[in-house]
Formats: sequence, C-alpha cells, structure tokens
Amino acid sequence: MILNLLRSRGPISRAEMAHLTGLSPAAVTFVVAELMEEALLVEREAVSGATGRRPVPVDINYEAHLAFGFKLNRYSINCVLTDLATTPLALLDAEVADTRPEGMIETIAATIPKLLAQADRQESEIMGIGVSIPGEIDPTTGMCIQSPRFGWKDLPFAELLAERVHVPVWIDDDVNAFAVAQKLFGVGRDHANFAALAIGAGIGCSLVIKGEIYHGSHSAAGKMGHITSVPNGRLCECGRKGCLMAHAAEPFMLDEWQNRTGSAISRDAFASSVEQRDDLALSILSDCGSRIGRHLADMVNLFDPEIIVVGGEAVQFGEALLAPIRKTMEAFAFFTRPELVADWVPSSWARGAAALATQRIFDFERSPSG
Ligand SMILES: [Zn+2]
Repeated sequence: MILNLLRSRGPISRAEMAHLTGLSPAAVTFVVAELMEEALLVEREAVSGATGRRPVPVDINYEAHLAFGFKLNRYSINCVLTDLATTPLALLDAEVADTRPEGMIETIAATIPKLLAQADRQESEIMGIGVSIPGEIDPTTGMCIQSPRFGWKDLPFAELLAERVHVPVWIDDDVNAFAVAQKLFGVGRDHANFAALAIGAGIGCSLVIKGEIYHGSHSAAGKMGHITSVPNGRLCECGRKGCLMAHAAEPFMLDEWQNRTGSAISRDAFASSVEQRDDLALSILSDCGSRIGRHLADMVNLFDPEIIVVGGEAVQFGEALLAPIRKTMEAFAFFTRPELVADWVPSSWARGAAALATQRIFDFERSPSG
C-alpha cells in the first residue's frame, strides 16, 4: 500500500502516509523502516521552509534496483536495462539470427553482461527480467501458449530463460507489457480503466480494468488486430483471412504503396513520404486509420475506457494516422468518446517489458518463475 502510494504521489512524509492510508503513525514508521532495510525506500532531502525544519520525505529507492526488458521481434530484440521507475540506463538492439526459443534465449543471455557494462552496474542489483512476446501469453505460468509470429506453441519460455540466466523472469504479450508500463508510470497512472492501443508490425488493444490488465480466460483478450475486418480478405500471420492487422498494420501500408505504384518502398522511405505530406502516403494512412477507428469504436462501446493511449512504431506517422482513427472512432462510438493520446518513444516496447519485472515490487501476491 505504501509503495503504491509513493509511486502515484511521489515523495511524502511518514505523517502524510499515515494520514492518506489510515494506518497508525507507529505502523507506518515500522513498515518504512523495514522497506528501507530492503533498500526499497529511501529518505530524500527535506526542503526547509520559513517555519523551520520540514518533515523528511520518503521515496521509493528507484535507483537501487535494476530490471531488464526484452521485446522479441522477428529480426531483432529490443533490450533495455532500467531502474525501478523503468527509466532506461542502457539500451541496445540485438540482431536475431535464429527465432527458435533456444536462439532467442542465447541472444538474451549474451546481452545481459553488455547492458550491465554499458550502465556500469552489478549483477547483484538485478531484481528481474521481463520479456514481451507477441502472442497469447499466460503471465501466471510463464507459458507462451502461442506466438504465430515465431511459430511457438505451449512453450514454458519464462522457465527456460530463468534456468539459463538464474534471474526471475516474467513474460506477457507485448501490448500488455506496454499497458503495464503505462499503468505504472505513464498516462494510465491516473486512470483505473483505460485501453492501450499499439500499432506497428501488428495491432493490439490491451484493456486495463480497475487497475489490472484484463487477460481474459485464455490470455487472448485485447487481440483487436485479429478481429475480422474484411471477410475472406488478406492472409494474416495467424493463418486466418481478413484480420484487422492484415489490412491496417505497417506491413499492409507498405504493400499498399507497392500495389498502387508498382514499386516497393522501405519503412523509412514511407515515413519520409508521410513527413513530406505525399498524397498517396496520406491516403493510405487515412484508410488504415479509419479502419482501425471503426473497430476501436466497438471496443469503446464494449468497455467504456476513460482514455485510450496509443503506442507502437506507427505513432511516428503522427496525426496523419491518429486523426482518422479519432474521427472514425468518434463517429461510430455510441455514447462516450474517450480521448486518444499518443505516448511513444522507440524504447517504449523494451521499457514495457522491463515493467513486467518492476511491477512485482508493487504487487507482492504474485511470484516469479525460476
Ligand atoms: Zn489474424
């Protein structure tokens, strides 16, 4: 309770903690002492005012503990070393030559000493590793139930990695991990109910309900990208046809450019065309945005989130993509029209993965794999 209070309020005195939690001052003093012993809390400098000595503010000792975050992609792993506030201390992208589980695990294991050296930190400071994997992931068992992108099925990924690196490992779907980071230290800090939409190589929309990620009964909630948008349409990576992501995620945008011009385009070249306000690029984004907004409205009608935070590489395209999403969502939403806010930097995927580990500091009921 105290850790979560400090996470949302920032540093406060013991007396304020007692006031805000309803705990007795003696209980607060006792718990704070215990958490300071574990190096989870630290006293910050008191600011002295005109009336003399001010009470000493207590804060979470964000700097003293480290977490690794790994976001698995087909051709690379985004790797980060963060403190407890998921502030990046070291970043790197590791190339993936082998997408089999053993290959991914070896690539992760090899980056750990590199990241520690880059940040000049010690292995003993690591509290955990978070790995985000696109797919259906059960975070309580650490199982990857399926990941069509890597062709994985019923894989105890957390256990396998923990055995290799001897550090507790937590895993979740990549969009869920982004939502966890938003819940802890992003837009979601002030919202109990919100949706986290991600648009990049795929599309996903994780739901945070009453402050918890909603996984559904088979870890398959939030898979907005696999809603059928065009019956018998393009083949999706999941093996089905016409999924929203097959008709509106980044690979579709590039294919669409090729179909309409007859020549292929790289992602970077497409991004520059958007920046130069090229008509065709803008029209493709407008079509994709409208399609996404149409399905986002259905999500809003079902879940009534307070706010929708948008992440993923496609956020780089800015209002050219976001405005049509917003416009169509608002046109099709029945009653509420939640605000759509972009919050994205290139390290957000990896930081989200690290948040899978750091969130355990704020949630003592769950235990790690390994
Ligand atoms: Zn699909």
